[in-house]
Formats: sequence, structure tokens, C-alpha cells
Amino acid sequence: MTVYPNVTKPCGRHVPNANSINLKSARVTDPKPILCASPRKKLPKIESVKDGSPLVREARESTSLDSMRASSPARVRPAIAATRAASLVDEQNSWIRRHPSALSMFEQIAQASLGKKIVMFLDYDGTLSPIVEDPDQAFMSTEMREAVKDTARLFPTAIVSGRCRDKVYSFVDLKELYYAGSHGMDIKGPHPSSCSNGNKNGESVLCQPASEFLPMIDQVYKTLVEKTKSIPGAKVETNKFCLSVHYRCVDEKSWVDLAEQVKLVLSCYPKLKLTYGRKVLEIRPTIEWDKGKALEFLLEALGFANSDDHVLPIYIGDDRTDEDAFKVLRERGQGFGILVSKDPKETSASYSLQEPSEVMSFLRRLVEWQRLSRRASL
Ligand SMILES: [Mg+2]
Repeated sequence: MTVYPNVTKPCGRHVPNANSINLKSARVTDPKPILCASPRKKLPKIESVKDGSPLVREARESTSLDSMRASSPARVRPAIAATRAASLVDEQNSWIRRHPSALSMFEQIAQASLGKKIVMFLDYDGTLSPIVEDPDQAFMSTEMREAVKDTARLFPTAIVSGRCRDKVYSFVDLKELYYAGSHGMDIKGPHPSSCSNGNKNGESVLCQPASEFLPMIDQVYKTLVEKTKSIPGAKVETNKFCLSVHYRCVDEKSWVDLAEQVKLVLSCYPKLKLTYGRKVLEIRPTIEWDKGKALEFLLEALGFANSDDHVLPIYIGDDRTDEDAFKVLRERGQGFGILVSKDPKETSASYSLQEPSEVMSFLRRLVEWQRLSRRASL
């Protein structure tokens, strides 16, 4: 029988509800990470759990595999593609009509920004860098870095990623940006002296709503590394406030085993949840905080708390987790979400771009348009 230990308060302290966080108090002039004290209670030990009935196990396996396949579409083989070509083209055309290219709609986007302050939000993997086999090799090109740097000179710009903030910073390497790592649970702004587009109160920004979970996340990371080492290709990555189990290099026959191992470990941690990304299982705290909350936090930190402020937020991302930010923009009736995808997907984004190279073209065009507009107004 599985015993579910009480891990509600891993540090013997109240686990914060991210909705109740005082945003003003999260800004500090001398940003220091909020570190959690050592846990007073011993964290739970993972024990082996016996499978349930064959039917229950079969249902679990089916659910895991369906979710993993749905979030990680395989390439369509040529023979199948030929027979499905006509319907796929129809589907693609219909989707593009609902989510047109941000490049073909550039004039409309530019017009909508007149008299408003653009704030740019950018996902990293699959948006600024190509998706690669080894997540440690997801480097962005020099040209893309220049495009992002030019963008940040003109507009406040934030990178919002599921990765550890330090890891994303090491890839992007631009000190003038805001970085929101761990799906927005680890936000840090640039020092005011390195950013001409900073927040209005001249202070750095820091927000870590899940700091209480650090000891638990660390223990689950070590356990998952141990439990998945027998599955070739599985890679567990710690993102500080959340974890990623990559299965891009795992044989599909082992996907269910991997998901079951992860679920087995998580069964001892009811305060952590599992979500599915592109060839990755994501583990994060159950607090109500996501990329959408991070977007709202940063807009407020920049002085744009209200929906009637003259601001035009643009969020560009390729992942399911970016949908939380797209939804926030729709609900605020402000700005635009842009989904990076070659394939039709259910999305709350207004526009689309096919791949990172188109993201770079869009950023360059926006920079050029803004420079011309400023020159014309002199
Ligand atoms: Mg992404």
C-alpha cells in the first residue's frame, strides 16, 4: 500500500499562494535570492509501489502514452503524408486564416502599437533557438542574439522559459533583459544601470513565489535521476523550482515505463504536479503560478498594471505552457500572442510564426519600423 506522507509544509512554513503575493514587496533594490531554510521535517522516502490491477495499469499506460504522443507529434512519414496531403492543406489554410502570420500582418500590428509602449516577452526553446536532441546544446545564433539585443534597446524585453533562469541567461547572455525561469517562478530584472527600458521606479525586480519548494524539488530531482537511469536516453534536468524529464532520445517503447516511473515518484509528493510538454515531462509545484502570472507580474513591475494602460505586450512562444500567457493577453484585451508552430494547434494566440528564423525576421522588422518612426517624429 502506498503511504502518502504529509509534505504540505516541507519547511515547516506556510506554502505561499502566489495570488496573495504582494508585488510591490517583491521588488528589491539589492536583489538576493529568497532561499528556504533547511526543512525541519525529514522529506519522504520513495518506496516501491506495487502495480494496481491490470485494468488500472492498462488505463494509466494508455493515458500516459496518449498525453506524451499528443504533446510530441511525430514526423509524418512520406507515404502517409501523400494520402493525407489534401486534408492537411485544408486544415493548414483554415488554421492560418484564424491565426495569420505575424509577418504578413505586420502593418496591422505596427498600427496597433501607435501611441503605446511595446513590451516584448519571448520564450526560449523553439522560439529563439531550434529544438535539439540535447537540451544542453540549445544555443541561439549570433544573429538572433543581435536581434534580441536590438529589440531590448527599444522595448522592455523579457525571456520567459521553463528552464532554470541561470541556464537561460547562459544561453542568451544579454544583461539588459528580464529573465523569468522555471515557468515564471524565478523572475529577475536587469540592474537599472544596464537597462534603458527598465521599470519606472528604478529598482531591480525579483519574484520567487515557489521558494518554499526548493528542498522538495531537490530531493525529487535526485530520486528521478536514480529511478530513470535504467531507461536509455532519459534525461532529468533541474530547473531550480521545477524539473524536466526529457524523452526526446528515449525509444517510444519505453515512454510508458518512463512516465510510470515519474508518476510513481510523484505519488509521494501531492504538492507537485505533472504536465506534458514537447518531448518532456514537466514537474512543478501546484501553486497558482505560470507564464501568464509572470507576464502580469512583469507588466505591473514595469508600471502597466491596468488593462487601460497604453501598453502593447507581445508574447511569442511555441509551447503549451505559453498558452497561459496568450490567455492572459486575450482576457486583458491587450497586445498579441504569437504562436511559433508549423502545424495547426489549438491556441489562444492571435498570430503565428513558423519557426525561430521567422521570429528573428519579425523582431528585426519591428526594430526597423520603430527606428524609422522615431526618426520621422523628430
Ligand atoms: Mg518553447
